[in-house]
Amino acid sequence: MIYGTTKVIGVIGDPIEHSFSPMMFNAAFKAKNMDYIYVPFKVEKHELKEAITGAKAFNIKGLNVTIPHKQKVINELDKFDVMANLIGAVNTLNFKDGKSKGYNTDCIGAIKAIEEVCNLKNKNVVIVGAGGAARAIAFQLAIEEVNNLTMVNRSAKKAESLVYDIKTLLSADFADHSKLDDITIDFTHIDLNFEHGGLDDLPNALKDADILIDTTPIGMHLNVEDIPVATKEIMHSDLIVNDIVYNPIETCLLKEAKKVNATCVSGIKMLLYQGAENFKIWTGEEAPLDVMEKALMEAIKD
Ligand code: NAP
Repeated sequence: MIYGTTKVIGVIGDPIEHSFSPMMFNAAFKAKNMDYIYVPFKVEKHELKEAITGAKAFNIKGLNVTIPHKQKVINELDKFDVMANLIGAVNTLNFKDGKSKGYNTDCIGAIKAIEEVCNLKNKNVVIVGAGGAARAIAFQLAIEEVNNLTMVNRSAKKAESLVYDIKTLLSADFADHSKLDDITIDFTHIDLNFEHGGLDDLPNALKDADILIDTTPIGMHLNVEDIPVATKEIMHSDLIVNDIVYNPIETCLLKEAKKVNATCVSGIKMLLYQGAENFKIWTGEEAPLDVMEKALMEAIKD
């Protein structure tokens, strides 16, 4: 039921019809008997500024931000957190006292997904892809003190430039940035051991790898028969394989990984844990993870 007191959370993007977030969050609010509702809003590229101003005027409590606004929205915000600043992208907004604050929770969501099965410290990690999601995950991995991070991408130049960005930005002094109000990360201990290459370098990189994270859209819904970035011939049983594509839940890469008894982590976990972080930002309460995961599974299967 919606009341005069109901707090509104939403997601802005274009397209937005495919989003599973309304099902995940509305199930969570219902389970916790909270007076909140989560609504999808289609916002075209040229309407972003008006959407943020309008959200403030409508006293909206929070928003998720998705394609094509994740980078551009930074220009419209009053504040953002340290990870959003490093990554240069925001996926969550909170409105308080007429001011907006942006967060990037994709990064921590991805890491919590993998932490369900192992501790990341001192691990050798290989990321395939060098787009927005890879950037968020790589920054967080650098902070988590992995031993080695190898970035491989179809365009090897893009992997190289992402590694350059991370090394440069993590060694800079952010303390004087006027929009940052929560410098909680100690950058001084970070010992960066990064490598980069093209997709041809993947077989070699996987030999000593503990974790493989595929951030490409290969194998996504409607393209489930794609050839995965890695087949069973180059994976091993001690490998943890995380495909961040969440529809289908078991992608072509995860099917290959299963053939060698590697540990599989579905992309649904990243979606779930970034959602849990958002829930806490908006409501101050812990998210009901089981309820949210069940709602996501049901929505994806439909
Ligand atoms: P993006 O910025 O467009 O980056 C895509 C990356 O994949 C690029 O590095 C691109 O390589 C590579 N790529 C694309 N098609 C490829 C192909 N056929 N073969 C090899 N490499 C290919 O996209 P993104 O925002 O990072 O998102 C990537 C995927 O992650 C999407 O499927 C998205 O749905 C998913 N995602 C999941 C979650 C979650 O919560 N689970 C969160 C965010 C994103 P080039 O640089 O060479 O073009």
